[in-house]
Amino acid sequence: MFLTEEQAMIQKVARDLAREQIAPHAKEVDETGEFPWKNIRLLAEHGFFGVHVPEAYGGIGADMVSHALVVEEVAAACASTSVALSTQALAIGPFLIGASEEQKERYVTPLARGEVLGSCGITEPGAGSDVSSIRTRAEKDGDNYILNGRKVFITNAGESEIYVIVARTSEHRTNGISLFIVENGTPGLSFGKKEDKMGIRGSATRDVILENVRVPKENMIGEEGQGFSIMMNVFNETRPIVGAQALGIARGAYDYVREYIKERVQFGKALSSFQMVQAMLSDMAMQIEASKLLVYQASEMIDRKQPGVPLNSSMAKCFASDTAMKVTTDAVQLMGGYGFIKEYPLERMMRDAKITQIYEGTNQIQRLIIAKQILGG
Ligand SMILES: Cc1cc2nc3c(=O)[nH]c(=O)nc-3n(C[C@H](O)[C@H](O)[C@H](O)COP(=O)(O)OP(=O)(O)OC[C@H]3O[C@@H](n4cnc5c(N)ncnc54)[C@H](O)[C@@H]3O)c2cc1C
Repeated sequence: MFLTEEQAMIQKVARDLAREQIAPHAKEVDETGEFPWKNIRLLAEHGFFGVHVPEAYGGIGADMVSHALVVEEVAAACASTSVALSTQALAIGPFLIGASEEQKERYVTPLARGEVLGSCGITEPGAGSDVSSIRTRAEKDGDNYILNGRKVFITNAGESEIYVIVARTSEHRTNGISLFIVENGTPGLSFGKKEDKMGIRGSATRDVILENVRVPKENMIGEEGQGFSIMMNVFNETRPIVGAQALGIARGAYDYVREYIKERVQFGKALSSFQMVQAMLSDMAMQIEASKLLVYQASEMIDRKQPGVPLNSSMAKCFASDTAMKVTTDAVQLMGGYGFIKEYPLERMMRDAKITQIYEGTNQIQRLIIAKQILGG
């Protein structure tokens, strides 16, 4: 797929930044698990939190393909850091799709500029894949809503200033769900402990606890009962971004191992001269190329507002994340024992890849969405 001049320029800026200033710290970010604020400030300085956001709301007004390119480059260098970009897109999404002009100006602008981080709280202890079973409640009280409930696994919770909370305003499974903006510091809002994770260890994941959190009715995004539908539309636009993240992780592993097998000698020859090794590398290259096409195509379909976005977004997310898992696992294999050692980056990439098959809808859920689109109904 050919990139436009603008897309290629954004890709180059992101690639140089990621390789020169983010990649050198990826090991440290993984080992310490510290939130990568320094990287986040660098990304903000380049406008990378608002690549696809219109200039009127603090973004750089480029397209979704450019956004995917930036996430891919950052993920190839440091997956933990790329999660800040994908999560910001998830937090901005409900505003771009359902918010009033006033809400967009007030909240999207600082998010797109990267001045503050945002989180989106959907998942609960009893509601993961089945979003429609959430139990967090928002009770109307005069001109306010009072929120009570607990969200789990919320990315950037505790670090973010702006939270989009998915809550129940009536018993109807889907039409009883609404979206609320909760600002950090609002009385009754607190966070659980930082989760100790397998991968993306520099990214912060915490529970969000809501105890009689009072927000004015103006903090609702869209109308009462529109929350589920807005979120499903948001996922259609953010899943290719998770795909881009997975693509970046796969590419990072592939680039590393390709050079390694040229250097490593066994049986008097470079590993790259063995046909079985070549076949593994060729499979990696094909899977990465196919992921790239799916991710860029889904992103372009979003830009063009083409029909079929739900199908292609799910395909891009599912295929690219399965590829990331396969490619990183095979890359570890090709390094032999060294692949298993923390001194080298591949075991980190393999751990980081796993989450892309799980969040923003597991890959089983993506396959259900794909089947539904193909079969109709
Ligand atoms: C690091 C991390 C960050 C996250 N960030 C966020 C965030 O910022 N905001 C947020 O709201 N959530 C976030 N999540 C939550 C994430 O989206 C959920 O974990 C995910 O959607 C799966 O939900 P679950 O964990 O409850 O698993 P479950 O829904 O319990 O699923 C368990 C297994 O059953 C399978 N399964 C479930 N239903 C079906 C079915 N109908 N058919 C076939 N298989 C099925 C699933 O695919 C999975 O393999 C995050 C999670 C993690 C681990």
